[in-house]
Amino acid sequence: MTPPQSLSDAATAIRQAVASASGPNATISHDEALMRISTDQLERVLHDSFEGPSQNVLTTGLGASPGAAVGSIVLNADDAMMATSDVILVREETSPADVHGMNVAVGILTTKGGLASHAAVVARGWGKPAVCGAEGIEIHSDHILVNGERIEAGETISIDGKSGHVMRGVIQSNQAEDIPEIATLLSWADESREIAIRANADTGADARVARVNGDEGIGLCRTEHMFLTEERLPVIQSMILSESPDVEEKALKELREAQRHDFGDLLEEMDALPVTVRLLDPPLHEFLPELEELVEAAARNELDADGIAMLQAARKWRERNPMIGTRGVRLAWVKPGLYEMQVEALLDAVADRIAAGGNPIVEIMIPLTVSGNELAGARKWIESVLQQHPEVASVKIGTMVETPRAALVADELASHADFFSFGTNDLTQLTFGFSRDDIENRIMNLYLEKELLEANPFQHVDANAVIELVRMGIERGRSIKPDLPIGVCGEHGGDPDSIELLVAAGVDYVSCSPPRVPVARLAAAQIAIRARDNR
Ligand code: PEP
Ligand code: MG
Repeated sequence: MTPPQSLSDAATAIRQAVASASGPNATISHDEALMRISTDQLERVLHDSFEGPSQNVLTTGLGASPGAAVGSIVLNADDAMMATSDVILVREETSPADVHGMNVAVGILTTKGGLASHAAVVARGWGKPAVCGAEGIEIHSDHILVNGERIEAGETISIDGKSGHVMRGVIQSNQAEDIPEIATLLSWADESREIAIRANADTGADARVARVNGDEGIGLCRTEHMFLTEERLPVIQSMILSESPDVEEKALKELREAQRHDFGDLLEEMDALPVTVRLLDPPLHEFLPELEELVEAAARNELDADGIAMLQAARKWRERNPMIGTRGVRLAWVKPGLYEMQVEALLDAVADRIAAGGNPIVEIMIPLTVSGNELAGARKWIESVLQQHPEVASVKIGTMVETPRAALVADELASHADFFSFGTNDLTQLTFGFSRDDIENRIMNLYLEKELLEANPFQHVDANAVIELVRMGIERGRSIKPDLPIGVCGEHGGDPDSIELLVAAGVDYVSCSPPRVPVARLAAAQIAIRARDNR
C-alpha cells in the first residue's frame, strides 16, 4: 500500500495511472491502474487538506470526518446561524437540536463522542470536516480552555478531520480540485467490482451527492433524521411524549405529511434505483428535550402548562441506557400506528412519483429486531398498509441485523425478511459492550496505546468477534433463504479494510456516507481484482 501523500502528489499519481491505461498506447491494464492508486490517495484528493507538518496543535481528537476547516469558534447552533463568516461549531456533543448550526458551520468540533456519535455520523454524511471527542477542551459560556489555554468565542481555529488535530489560528490548506481522471478510474472500478455500493442518505440533497459520487441506490435512509430540524423536532417529541391519543394522532398526521415530501425528494433523486427506508429508530436521548434545561426552567418558574407537561413526560421517558432502551422496533410496539403511518407516508410519496412518471423502487427496513416474532408482527403492520395500495408493485420488507442475538437467530429472522442489512455500528457497540457515544474518549486511546486492542472497532470492523457474527448471520439467514440479499449500512461500509472482511463474509452490497462512495467503489474493485488474481 502506498503511504499517504500530499494532495498534489496523490493527484499526480491518479492522472499518471489513468493516462498509462488509456488509449491505443496504454502500457498497463485498467485493473493495473486501479491497483496503483491506494484508497488513501483517492480520499486525499477528494477533500481539502492541511499540508506539511502540523502547526500550532492545541489538542487532538478523533478524525471523524476528513477535510480541513478554518473558522471562528461558535459555541452554539444559533450563533452559527447568525454568523456572517466561516465558523466552527464547538459543542460537548451534538444532538438533533444542533443540526441547523452544524449545517451552516464549515467544521464541527466536539469534546465528547466517538466515530459513531451523532456529530460524526451527521458530519460524514455531509462530507463536512469534524473532530470528535477532543477531550482536552473545556467549554465555557464565551470561551474554551484547551489544556488550560484560553481561546475566546470568535477566535479562529483550524481543524483537521483526518488527523484529529485542533490548531490555533489560520492554517493554510490545499483545496481539493476537480480531477477528471477520477471519474475514469472509478468507471473502471465499477467494471471490476463484484458488490454493489449504495449510500446512506436521508434527504434529496444527500441523495444528489450520492448520485454524483456514483452510488447504486440508498442502503439506509434514517427516517428519524428527517426530524432533525428545529421546527420538526417538537413534532417527533410530541409523538413520543404524548399521553393522549388525540395529541399522538395529530403528531402522527404531521409526521406523515412531512415525510411524504421528504420521501418524494429522495425517490425523485434516486429514480429507478432502490431506496431502503428504515422505519423510525430514535435513540430517545437524542430526541427528548434536555431534562436539565426543563428542570432549571421550572425552578425559575418559566414553564407554562405545556412546559410542565413536557417536563413530566421527559422524566417519565428518560432512560439510563437509551441506546439499549426504547429504540427501533421496540418504540413501534409501544406506539401503535407509528410504523403504519410511516409506510402510509412512503406509499403516498410512491404514488406521487408514479403520477409524475417516475419509477420509484422502495424497500422497507425494520431496525433493532431481536426475534422472529417481533419482526413478524412488524411485518404484518407494513403488509396491512401495503394491501390497501394494490397500485404499488411489490415492496421488499427486510430487517437490520444489529444485535448479537439477531445474528444468532438470523435463520428465525430470515423467515420473515426479504433482505438483511447489518448495522455494524450497533453490532460493534453491543458485541463489545462499548457505548458508541462514550468509549472512544476515555477508554479507546488507552486501549490502543496499551495494545489491548489492535484497532478502533468503530473504525475498522472487528476481525474476530463482530465479523464472526456477520458471517454466522449470513450463513444462518441463507440457510433459510439461499438468495437472501444482504448488505451492510454501518459506518464500516465506507472503510476499505472493513469492506474487505465484509465481502469475504458474503455481503452483496455496502452502504456508506455519500462522500465515501468513491472510496468504497475503488476498495471493492481492488478486493475483486485481488481475489481474481488469487484464483
Ligand atoms: C448501525 O447501527 O450500524 C446503523 C446503521 O444504524 P444507526 O447508526 O442509525 O444506529
Ligand atoms: Mg443502528
